Amino acid sequence: MLSNDQSTPALPFMFIGHGSPMNTLEFNRWTEAWADTAASFPQPKAILAVSAHWFVGATAVTQSEQPRTIHDFAGFPPELFAYDYPAAGDPELARRVGELLAPVQVLGDGGSWGIDHGTWSVLAHMYPDADVPVVQLSIDATQAADFHFEVGARLEPLRHEGVLILGSGNTVHNLGLMDWGRPDSGADWAVAFDAAATELMTADPSRIVELTNHDAYRYAVPTPDHFFPLLYVAGAIAAAGKTASVITDGCTMGSLSMTSYSAS
Ligand code: ZN
Repeated sequence: MLSNDQSTPALPFMFIGHGSPMNTLEFNRWTEAWADTAASFPQPKAILAVSAHWFVGATAVTQSEQPRTIHDFAGFPPELFAYDYPAAGDPELARRVGELLAPVQVLGDGGSWGIDHGTWSVLAHMYPDADVPVVQLSIDATQAADFHFEVGARLEPLRHEGVLILGSGNTVHNLGLMDWGRPDSGADWAVAFDAAATELMTADPSRIVELTNHDAYRYAVPTPDHFFPLLYVAGAIAAAGKTASVITDGCTMGSLSMTSYSAS
């Protein structure tokens, strides 16, 4: 490991609002911002991804040398089920994550997981050649917001080791309140919650957990799976003493926020 080696430029941290799985195959202002941001820094040696879609009862990492592409959704066209993201795994990085997070116990997935669409829908645009190894870190659904922030903070050293820390979720994600009549905007409560997140991410990410007390939290975060990846990234950014920049923003379908951040 090249810890703190000045010849290895520190990589940024990124949180991506991934939205619909169809963004994998589409090119729009959001996916272009993901790609442009990836092109703005050196190619990482590996990616550690925290995806909303691996929300289980433990903190775990993918260990496979060749993780499979998981199509964890229903009701989308065959092209999406045929999509393959053949990035390699990185068992050494998986072990390193276990080291960094101790005494939190990090389980190995034993090959039971892989790369899910929260990760590959984004990497399809950031690294379309799938030439950067990927490890996924699960979100322990039994833990509260502070835990996820703290785990993120402990991952901070990885940016000096050539690893890109990528959170993929949506700050506002309420499928029950989706409004197909407003593809490019959000309800007032969604816009307000998203703006509050941006204020904290850009001014003081160490306070991100305060969002759980926001008036709109119960609408924006009816279940925490898509929100918690933001906490990992905020934790890492705060541990580095940095603040985030918005790389793209906006709401879609009334109740989804596509706002994405990077900090370098
Ligand atoms: Zn999702």
